Amino acid sequence: LGERLAPAGPGDELDLLAETLNAMLDRIDQAFAATRRFTADAAHELRTPLAAIRTEAEVALLAPRPPEEYREALRSVVEEADRLSRLADRLLLLSREDAGRALDRRPVRLDEAVREAAEAAAVAAGRAGVSLRVGPLCPAEVAGDPDLIRQVFDNLLDNAVKYTPAGGEVAVTARREGGRAVIEVRDTGVGIAGDALPRIFDRFYRADPSRSRRTGGTGLGLSIARAVVERHEGTIGVESDPGVGSTFRVAIPARFVEDPGGRSRAESV
Ligand code: ADP
Repeated sequence: LGERLAPAGPGDELDLLAETLNAMLDRIDQAFAATRRFTADAAHELRTPLAAIRTEAEVALLAPRPPEEYREALRSVVEEADRLSRLADRLLLLSREDAGRALDRRPVRLDEAVREAAEAAAVAAGRAGVSLRVGPLCPAEVAGDPDLIRQVFDNLLDNAVKYTPAGGEVAVTARREGGRAVIEVRDTGVGIAGDALPRIFDRFYRADPSRSRRTGGTGLGLSIARAVVERHEGTIGVESDPGVGSTFRVAIPARFVEDPGGRSRAESV
């Protein structure tokens, strides 16, 4: 690619054809460039945990060591292997999204997906000394893929906990706004600087690479969240104040269901 057709002459129909073909070639070029960048970034990300595994193994093999040191090395190896497998899962999910795989549409209760994600995040929150508040959660249903939807809230809540220091708070709510369910994940964490804000939904982008790597981040969570929300005709956005906290907001067209259990109360997990 890179070659372009020359215009045939002014006002000619061939001109229009050349222009259209050139525009198509430009788009194909851009798509190839994006794919190349994605592959290069993915290879780079895979190398980091692989290098760590190799170093741990090499050091352990150098000379006899006390058993506790071997155990420590193996623990790091397991941690890095976990990161590799998380990365592989996420890359696979993104490539399926890129391929435009048909969405498995089933009725999914958004409020239940949020509650389950919060229950899963409660363990990490407890360990990190972050309090997690859940609700009110307005009952709402979408036609979508339950695993993908769950992944959105898992990613947002994981991040909120991960980027909030001990003693801070994470709160998640769901409310109705017209025909849409609006889910907000709010934290009192480190926040995101203004120049980083427009880029955090980009693949592999990290505002603070060392913190992200330390906490096992892949730099893919938010790009997955955005891809999934958009597949469900929704939008995702963020507001953040560095040093004060961040609020991620997901809005998805939904059907609002009766709530026999009266679950829309605020509660702590
Ligand atoms: P990662 O795996 O690095 O967390 P994500 O795609 O989930 O990747 O997030 C991209 C970047 O956005 C993170 O590296 C971090 O810098 C920033 N970020 C995401 N969520 C938050 C948050 N709740 N508070 C502060 N920064 C955040």
